[in-house]
Parts: sequence; structure tokens; C-alpha cells
Amino acid sequence: MKNMTDFPSQAPLLEVTGLETAFEIDGELYNAVDGVSFNVKPKQVLGVVGESGCGKSVMSLSIMQLLPKGIGKIRNGQITFNGQSLEKLDDKKMNKIRGKDIGMIFQEPMTSLNPVFTIGFQLAESLHNHFKLSKKEARGKVIELLDQVGISRPERVVDEYPHQLSGGMRQRVMIAMAIACKPKLLIADEPTTALDVTVQAQILELLQGLQETNDMAIILITHDLGVVAETCHEVLVMYAGEVVERADVVTLFENPKHPYTELLMRSIPRLDEEEEKLASIEGIVPSLKNMPRQGCKFVDRCPKAMEECRTITPRLSENLPGHEVRCLLYETSWNREGMSAK
Ligand code: SF4
Repeated sequence: MKNMTDFPSQAPLLEVTGLETAFEIDGELYNAVDGVSFNVKPKQVLGVVGESGCGKSVMSLSIMQLLPKGIGKIRNGQITFNGQSLEKLDDKKMNKIRGKDIGMIFQEPMTSLNPVFTIGFQLAESLHNHFKLSKKEARGKVIELLDQVGISRPERVVDEYPHQLSGGMRQRVMIAMAIACKPKLLIADEPTTALDVTVQAQILELLQGLQETNDMAIILITHDLGVVAETCHEVLVMYAGEVVERADVVTLFENPKHPYTELLMRSIPRLDEEEEKLASIEGIVPSLKNMPRQGCKFVDRCPKAMEECRTITPRLSENLPGHEVRCLLYETSWNREGMSAK
């Protein structure tokens, strides 16, 4: 496991403060990301964990300013990258940052790769957007990138179409596209979920290698704590749009506090098991329209829930230095007798 002591006093590369991202449903706004704050230091790998519907992907789309127009919007909060406020940038300025300074890869490469163009054409296009290269130079650079992400015979693959490649190779192409401009930050949203176990391990190894050689920070979004253990320095556990626990990876695995984190830990599959990874957590994340207005959002699924959890809203508070938890079990500032937060 990686250690956070590698980043003692560095200024953050990305700072997210009080982020609230809402979606409009039937004329009303509902927060899919509800007051999330965190930072990422240069070369740090931050894991963001939680089931589908916890707000992880909406959070990353907010950072990239890629929310569906007219439906999703940032209501509150600041996103500062390299000293620049991203939420205030217009499309043109944000386009310059996307790809060049911040790269992104998604779970299903086929949705991001265009089936009618060759791999070489698509990779060269993302290079053209940021650098002025001749056709010959771009082709050479594309072959070099394909080689860097471990694609064998890159001079042949450069002329192939996405459907001619395996899922693992397509994901390598997406990674090549995302790192083409050597971004300072890579956001990887479930990059291995659609792949089989062996290929998953290879892709994670590739990302780790690139993080070190390119001195890149990574936000790794996943539902799988097993993936986090191998790759990340620090972890945010998200539930229903909120951070419910934050700690460095060693602390989180040695001393998980939040009941949701404990359940996620128990659902990490052993190498010889192929069952559904989150099968042991009963129930589902409440939908945006059915989110509890007060109390703990995890209450209906929590094996440790108390009566008070329905009426008192827990706050994210520091349990130990650098270890934050959002759970009444660890809050001292509420009064059991009066059942109210002080
Ligand atoms: Fe469970 Fe209550 Fe803690 Fe929520 S506040 S996680 S319901 S014990």
C-alpha cells in the first residue's frame, strides 16, 4: 500500500470546496453531489469509492465541466486547478484545459472511441487540438504513445478501427489518448470495470507506471476497494452524494470507521471468487427524489443505525488527524438525551 507521507507540505494541484451539483427533475433541483470538499496534490493518487448512484461520476464530470447541458449544474462550491477557478471558465478556455492539463478515461471505451475512424486518426486528432504537428510527426507520436501504453505492433494498430481491438486494447488506446498531452491530472472513472480480472490488473499496473513516469496525479473512481488498496494514497468513500469517510489508504484499511466503509470492505472479493462484488450490502442508494431531508442518508441500510440517526444529520468530522467520518457513532457534539446537534 502507498503512503501519504510522500506529500507532506505540497500545495494542492486540485482543490474542490463545498461542491454541490444538482440535476433538474420535474422542475426541481436535486443535489447529486452534496457539499463535497477534497484536494489532490501533485503525483498523488486519490481513490473515490462507492456504489453506482453515489455521485462519484457526477463529481468528476463537474470538475471537467462536462455535465449534461440544461439538466445538470454546479449550484455551489469552488473547483481550483493549479490556482485557476474552473467553474468560472467559459467553454473555450475549459477546452484548453481538458485533455492538455486534465485527462479523463471512462469505463467503456467504445462510447468514447468513434467506430468509423482509425485509432491513429483519433489519437492524432487529440494531439492536433493542442499541438501543431505535421501528419508525419503526428503518426510517429501516435505510434510512440501506443507503444508506451503496452500495445504490441503499434505500427499496425495505428491503422486499425476500434472494433478490431479487444476491450483491454481499447482501454489502452483511451489511456494513450488521455495521456497524449502529459496532463498533470488524470481522472479515471471505473477504468477497469468492463474488463476481465487479468486485464484489469494489467490496466491498473499500466496506470501506476504512467503515474510514476509522467509525474501525474490520478483521481481513480471505482466501486471496488480492492482496486484502491493496490493503487491509491488516499481514499474518499462516497455515499448518496456525500463524503462519508476520508483517510489515507493504510488507515482506511486498518481502521475503517463508517458502517458503509465496513460493508464495502467485507464485499471485496477474494481472488478465487467471481461473485458480484457488492452483493453483501442490502438495499440500494436512495434515488435523488427520495433522498432523506434530515438524518443520515445511510440509515435504511445501516446495521448500526440508532433511533437518532433518522433525526440528526451527521457531519463529516475529524475522528483522528487526517481521518474524517460522517457518522453519529463518532460525533461527540450531539446530545443523546435531547437528540439534537449542538
Ligand atoms: Fe449508521 Fe447512524 Fe452512523 Fe448513519 S449515523 S452510518 S445510520 S450509525
